[in-house]
Amino acid sequence: MSRSPLIIVSGPSGVGKTTVIQRLLADASLPLRLSVSATTRKPRAGEVDGQHYHFWDRDRFEAGIAAGQFLEYAQVHGNYYGTLRDEVERHRDCQTGVILDIDVQGFFQVRQHCDDYLSIFLYVPEDRYEARLRNRASEDEAAIQRRLQTARWEITQAGEYMVQLVNEDLDETVSRVQQLIRDQYQRRGGSCSTI
Ligand code: 5GP
Repeated sequence: MSRSPLIIVSGPSGVGKTTVIQRLLADASLPLRLSVSATTRKPRAGEVDGQHYHFWDRDRFEAGIAAGQFLEYAQVHGNYYGTLRDEVERHRDCQTGVILDIDVQGFFQVRQHCDDYLSIFLYVPEDRYEARLRNRASEDEAAIQRRLQTARWEITQAGEYMVQLVNEDLDETVSRVQQLIRDQYQRRGGSCSTI
């Protein structure tokens, strides 16, 4: 049987990616897991090591790079972020689809050595994601400006993804992504329990 789907979700900070992904994971009819990335960024209030991220220091992260532990990694907003192979490969072999919440640089690396994936770019109009970033209140002004600058560049790359979705209505976005994932399972011979 073929391996389960790899679903890459990218989009600027504040676009609602985390909420969309949480809703996908809560749908018991889709056998999915979220790959927990490693990062050198400090945890935000409420973030739990091993659940939201593996919070590593730079030495440990760089040792992981040297040891080939990463499927991809990138520097985003001054910190390292990376996908651990161990978070992905063995789960796909066990028929669980894996979601990667990664930036555009990470996606470019994954697609170089993987031709079997679904890539989705989520975005909202700029004034909306700026407001969301500010409401989150977890960054200072300089960090917010850095994220906005990155976001503008990322949006110019949206056409590189198989699907671009404007996250205007959460329910609609979630149901469109669910359908895209079901299509992926169907193409692979129906290992999703609801099909
Ligand atoms: P945040 O600091 O807001 O959690 O994440 C910042 C950015 O890093 C987001 O765009 C997120 O998609 C990206 N990111 C999170 N994990 C990874 C990863 O493992 N690899 C890459 N390349 N980007 C990641």
